[in-house]
Amino acid sequence: MLWLALSLTFACLAIRELLSPWNRDHPQPIHPPYLLLVSAIAIGFAWPPVSTWRFERFLESRARVLTEGRPVSVHCNTLFDTMLDPNALAAGHANLATGEIVLQKPWCSTLRDYLDDPASADQRGIQSLNLFTHEVMHVRGLLDERVTECHAVQYNRRMAELLGVPAPLALDHARRYYRESYAQRAEVGGLSGSYFSPECAPGRALDLRLPHSIWR
Ligand SMILES: [Zn+2]
Repeated sequence: MLWLALSLTFACLAIRELLSPWNRDHPQPIHPPYLLLVSAIAIGFAWPPVSTWRFERFLESRARVLTEGRPVSVHCNTLFDTMLDPNALAAGHANLATGEIVLQKPWCSTLRDYLDDPASADQRGIQSLNLFTHEVMHVRGLLDERVTECHAVQYNRRMAELLGVPAPLALDHARRYYRESYAQRAEVGGLSGSYFSPECAPGRALDLRLPHSIWR
């Protein structure tokens, strides 16, 4: 909102400058350098929210493939949104009734950076992919965190491909998440451990035997 308010302020200055020759009290010629400057600043302030809005719509369109018709919307929280969010301590959350997925700051930026350059992905970038997949799994109707996380582990490959990650990297990153971050959940225990299940393994009870399995 702050960015849009600043953008609107400078847009008003640009409009006032455009109308200055027709000012009844003090008609003045238009000063092109000033008009260009305030117009450029207005566009500059408008870009971050517009860019985020486009990224949210992109994530929604790809998530919709996996939610198989269920409504889904994505919102990237600003710092201000996060401060007001009752679930601020969770990296993300989803509302099963409305299909709304919320990603806390800075996870949207982390996911965007990962998608911009998947070949240079680090563990946190891959975790941002899994976070998004996890919330999409909730929108598919899953409530239990262990089951949801295990489905996300297996759908990360497909989600990454839908988001534009090249197929070999998508498979590699999905396997890295399972091997590193998911395995760490078992070691750390506590809240993180509540997302882990020993049944989330090839041939075990939670194996979905997907055609795009990460285990075969
Ligand atoms: Zn969850």
